[in-house]
Amino acid sequence: MQDYQHILLAADYSGHCGTVIRKAKALAHLYQAKLSAIHVLDNIPMPDTNYGTVIKLDIDIDSDEKLLEAEKDKFVQLCNRLAIDPANRWLVWGIPKQEIIQIAVQEQVDLIVAGSHGRHDLALLLGSTANSILHHTSCDVLAVRLQEE
Ligand code: AMP
Repeated sequence: MQDYQHILLAADYSGHCGTVIRKAKALAHLYQAKLSAIHVLDNIPMPDTNYGTVIKLDIDIDSDEKLLEAEKDKFVQLCNRLAIDPANRWLVWGIPKQEIIQIAVQEQVDLIVAGSHGRHDLALLLGSTANSILHHTSCDVLAVRLQEE
């Protein structure tokens, strides 16, 4: 098997997210792979931009947009903790499954690491995002098994 060279962590900050993060980090270390991270903003109002708009992490935003500020902080902290290069951090507005696949293709990712479930669906065998990624991308996908607590 060829080593993975570029791993994309899909982080949703749900209760189990730590497990997914640890797996992605361990695999990146094991394969000495580039590690990227994506968080898709699907729960806060989108300002006057299109879906899929990449948000510049190094530019200040309007002080009214506290929610976005909090999301940015959380994401930057996570990426700093994982020593992810600023060029490999993706905070985007949109629909998680679509944006994760889009960035994976664009950045030539060869392994996506996501949770089997996140905030959306514990009822399904695979959460809606993990399921869609699995069926609509050509790279490998690791669905980290997360149990209901
Ligand atoms: P879900 O579809 O909510 O069951 O989520 C399954 C997995 O998809 C999560 O454990 C995350 O790895 C990923 N995911 C879901 N929503 C997002 C999001 N907004 N941003 C990044 N990754 C996500």
